[in-house]
Amino acid sequence: MNRICPRCKKVYSYSLKECPNGCIKKIRAESNRIYDRCQRENQDFYNSKEWKRLRESCRNKFSELCLWSLYKHKRVRKGSLVHHIVPLSEDKSKGLVLTNLVYLSDEAHREIHKLYETDQVETIKEIKEFIKIWEVEYGGGGI
Ligand SMILES: [Zn+2]
Ligand SMILES: [Zn+2]
Repeated sequence: MNRICPRCKKVYSYSLKECPNGCIKKIRAESNRIYDRCQRENQDFYNSKEWKRLRESCRNKFSELCLWSLYKHKRVRKGSLVHHIVPLSEDKSKGLVLTNLVYLSDEAHREIHKLYETDQVETIKEIKEFIKIWEVEYGGGGI
């Protein structure tokens, strides 16, 4: 039996505990970096009632599914967190705007942050396109 590393897509034997490319450590480091950037500086924001309410709305809007997994990877997967499409650190005024939020799995979240580092405009555009598709298919805007 083989496993596939979610980070580098390497196929490796099930008998190995983790990806031989050391991805477990890299994932941890990347998660910490994301946490640093998104959360630590904005503790008050993330603890606010307004945010918690909006987070719920976002989760409901996307039926608790990870939008990125669904359209980018054609996989139905539960999301676990709400991501700011335009990061809080760049535009606080979009912090509590539902259209600036998307529901994601941990893995998709890491992937998006990595993409964002290389091409911000393209990454934002792609997420927004997926949201549009979602709204047409499930938002009552469709058939
Ligand atoms: Zn790997
Ligand atoms: Zn994020």
